[in-house]
Amino acid sequence: MSKLRLAIQKNGRLSEKSLKLLEECGIKISNGTRKLKSVSSNFPLEILFLRDDDIPQYVEQGVADIGIIGLNEVLEQKKNIAVVQKLGFAQCRLSLAIPKEETYSGIQYFENKKVATSYPEILSSFFKEKNINVQIEKIGGSVEIAPGIGLSDGIFDIISTGSTLLTNGLKEVETVLESEAVLISSENLSNENQEILKKLLFRINAVKEASESKYILLNAPNENLEKIINLLPGMKSPTVLPLAENGWSSIHSVIKEDKFWDVIENLKKEGAQGILVLEIEKMIL
Ligand code: ATP
Ligand code: MG
Repeated sequence: MSKLRLAIQKNGRLSEKSLKLLEECGIKISNGTRKLKSVSSNFPLEILFLRDDDIPQYVEQGVADIGIIGLNEVLEQKKNIAVVQKLGFAQCRLSLAIPKEETYSGIQYFENKKVATSYPEILSSFFKEKNINVQIEKIGGSVEIAPGIGLSDGIFDIISTGSTLLTNGLKEVETVLESEAVLISSENLSNENQEILKKLLFRINAVKEASESKYILLNAPNENLEKIINLLPGMKSPTVLPLAENGWSSIHSVIKEDKFWDVIENLKKEGAQGILVLEIEKMIL
């Protein structure tokens, strides 16, 4: 039987989360992560452990069928591959930064300036679109020290907390790209492998939906039931069960993580009590 070959990062920020995603999808990987290759014992998947920079190329060439990689690498490398699914982890942004004592007047600031980066393709597309002429210095790493040593006027790099910028006397002035891990695929998958990919995507979506949602149970006075139900969209509509105590009901529903605190606040305002919030493991819509 055919197996889908998935490339993931061997060592780095994406490795652990990629393996965790497979685990949450119920896909067992028999041998550890020390090897170059490993095979799932319960899903038609072979895992290749590679350097993340190499993954787009391997997928384009068909050495791997699919891969997990940062959107930033996909956009930088411009290979013939398809982005099939955003995965919701390894979120970061790629931003422009300049020495903190400089006054930033807007994007025109960069006209005729030098910017150091490991992402020259993304950056040159950005400035081209804005019609700004910039000299781009491509360097492999430690980009944040470039202005300090006189290599460039500014930098373009991945920022997560901004503390690296601060210690190098820089300030973030413009976000160019919001990135996260994505699932990429070769554009020439066999029919059999397309079927396996569909099954994998089904599981990934169930895990993703679940991680973005919470199961909520609460008690509500019957006179406010309608108002409370309106605050809880749920998957279809909430489950309402009578409580032993007269005039009260128990309501069960699912709410999105990002709306969570607002919803809870409003529920309390309407007299909801005994609110319980539970993690959801899988969610099939
Ligand atoms: P190497 O190739 O030497 O292993 P790398 O920089 O390519 O280094 P990582 O640092 O592991 O590899 O980053 C892999 C991906 O994780 C990046 O391409 C980016 O998408 C994402 N990423 C990088 N830095 C952060 C961060 N601080 N927070 C969240 N995600 C990040
Ligand atoms: Mg890399």
